[in-house]
Amino acid sequence: MAKFLPDPRQKSACKRTNTGPSGRCVCRAYSLKAPQPAGFQKDRCFSAGFPAFLKGIRFKSMARIVMKFGGTSVANLERIHNVARHVKREVDAGHEVAVVVSAMSGKTNELVDWVQNMPKVAGADSPFYDAREYDAIVASGEQVTSGLLAIALQSMGINARSWQGWQIAIKTDNAHGAARIQEIDGSDIVRRMGEGQVAVVAGFQGIGPDNRIATLGRGGSDTSAVAIAAGLKADRCDIYTDVDGVYTTDPRIEPKARRLKKVAFEEMLEMASLGAKVLQVRSVELAMVHKVRTFVRSSFEDPDAPGMGDLLNPPGTLICDEDEIVEQEVVTGIAYAKDEAQISLRRLADRPGVSAAIFGPLAESHINVDMIVQNISEDGTRTDMTFTVPSGDVDKALRVLSDNKDKIGYDVVQSEKGLVKVSVIGIGMRSHAGVAATAFRALAEKGINIKAITTSEIKISILIDGPYAELAVRTLHSCYGLDKN
Ligand code: ADP
Ligand code: ASP
Ligand code: MG
Repeated sequence: MAKFLPDPRQKSACKRTNTGPSGRCVCRAYSLKAPQPAGFQKDRCFSAGFPAFLKGIRFKSMARIVMKFGGTSVANLERIHNVARHVKREVDAGHEVAVVVSAMSGKTNELVDWVQNMPKVAGADSPFYDAREYDAIVASGEQVTSGLLAIALQSMGINARSWQGWQIAIKTDNAHGAARIQEIDGSDIVRRMGEGQVAVVAGFQGIGPDNRIATLGRGGSDTSAVAIAAGLKADRCDIYTDVDGVYTTDPRIEPKARRLKKVAFEEMLEMASLGAKVLQVRSVELAMVHKVRTFVRSSFEDPDAPGMGDLLNPPGTLICDEDEIVEQEVVTGIAYAKDEAQISLRRLADRPGVSAAIFGPLAESHINVDMIVQNISEDGTRTDMTFTVPSGDVDKALRVLSDNKDKIGYDVVQSEKGLVKVSVIGIGMRSHAGVAATAFRALAEKGINIKAITTSEIKISILIDGPYAELAVRTLHSCYGLDKN
């Protein structure tokens, strides 16, 4: 993110030393009319503890909170009212609140389908559409939910208004369909929050340098929320979803998965990029870079249940710095990504430049290559190269390879769709040997064949046949004891 504009409220903020990222007193004691004893300024912070003479006086705590609600949380009007109750709880506690909403669940898929079913551009040899129009269409789902939630809040007596990305403005780059946020001007929202207004922001969207709506890639409302939290210098960013936190694996696949109290940014980054869609990858990157305290929590819990409004330890999973985690397990979680495909080039010339000749043109065609395995050549002249791409990109990749066949110099190309990548993730792996061997043994005992393996310092990824996905996830989950407390 290039820059975030400064918070104009900071000037009038209290002068206590232990401020949160918003730079303001979180206890509101400074607004008391009564004369303040010497030392009061320093001691009034909730984190410093209240001095004895103030015990029994109930101070309203005050922080700046960004609350994000995903598609299932705003799936219908009843759920939108429930979301409004969550927001009301924080507003009633005296916090400044900005809300980010997704489209109703299924809506974005429907909009994408509509675009994909439009007729081809005349003369185009493949389905092709104008990405700027794609963005104009698919961003509309969030426009609806932001307005509906603002109305629901108003009906509860809360001063609220909706904001579209371009109104704020959330400025992005020009990569329509997968744009990245460059800059957020939060000054207007911050001023209005200071006047008690709740901002209800349409997630997933911003405005590009071409002055047109740009969307942030699927799942992008998480990124909107974290970027806004960073831009507004919020004390916390709460990602409300249909699960009550980040689990050791997807709880839909393994009911024995356990909720994690804390997950390190780096691990969450791996989990998200290896398929755990509970947070969009880019949102974790931003939270890590801008040190945004991010909680993943459930919107389906009773908004007024005890502890739901806890300022420091709300229920859910905290995504945080590694050193905040006291007891680090060797393996933290298992992720999986479906719809992987494998492409093999047989009998390639084994010479310098051959990899560049293959992967250069694929990259130029925006094909995301993941695992790469090159066999050792038997006679020093010929080798095989196998790599994975998303299943949806196979046809395009085969076309690119065939266009470049002469330059690459291979004999045959083979491809296989419908594969799955399962991954074992854990920071503790850095200092423990044998983690990979445990996985291989466990999969072998279940008769699951491994097609490719890649490793990094904190993860092992294994490519297998699609039908074994759930068995493999459950097997890996239990072989590291993740199903035990
Ligand atoms: P939202 O619509 O709120 O953005 P998503 O569907 O994008 O929600 O993400 C929540 C889903 O992520 C959960 O329903 C769950 O199935 C899935 N998920 C995958 N891996 C995990 C994990 N390790 N922990 C929690 N949820 C996970
Ligand atoms: N509505 C968008 C999607 O479904 C963005 C989001 O939900 O985060 O991808
Ligand atoms: Mg999501």
